[in-house]
Amino acid sequence: MADSGPGLARALALIADVPDFPEPGILFKDITPLLDDHTAFTTVIEALADAGRDDGGRPVVDKVLGMESRGFILGAPVALTLGVGFVPVRKAGKLPRETYAVSYALEYGEATLEIHRDALAPGDRLLLVDDVLATGGTARATLDLVQKCGASVHGVAMLMELAFLPGRETLGDVPLTTLLTV
Ligand code: AMP
Repeated sequence: MADSGPGLARALALIADVPDFPEPGILFKDITPLLDDHTAFTTVIEALADAGRDDGGRPVVDKVLGMESRGFILGAPVALTLGVGFVPVRKAGKLPRETYAVSYALEYGEATLEIHRDALAPGDRLLLVDDVLATGGTARATLDLVQKCGASVHGVAMLMELAFLPGRETLGDVPLTTLLTV
């Protein structure tokens, strides 16, 4: 089981707050100092991977899904740690073969996420991984993509949850693991 004590606290303390990025009023959570520290990076990957294990430490998911693009950085090592495959959920137009697509509302305009149609088998159990749960739009769209594939979600694992936004509610009863709530 992963470190949930001082090692994890030290790792999470490396996340930097950047005010007014990418636009005024947004406090951007910059995870690059954490990624740059091998001990911290390893600690958070182990902690996120625990969301895909049972109480005995055995992996209970068939694949890990990561949402572009920081979900790739975190999700791929989580998949390797659990000993399962990794599936990228990408922004529109990036995947080369046949896809399922889901569009969702942003503050201004809309975004579309895609997954390869053959990436998941019906019945696959999945762990979704990303860095920040904010409005929940990205995670909700990914849950909808999983449903289109006929697969099911074991849980969502995020480095951090912004509790002043309604992200958690958008996930319904899907179990959510977050290492930090701000
Ligand atoms: P949302 O769809 O609103 O839950 O936003 C989630 C996506 O936007 C994640 O992939 C995050 O990487 C990114 N994001 C949202 N808010 C922030 C923030 N304050 N700092 C860093 N990334 C953010």
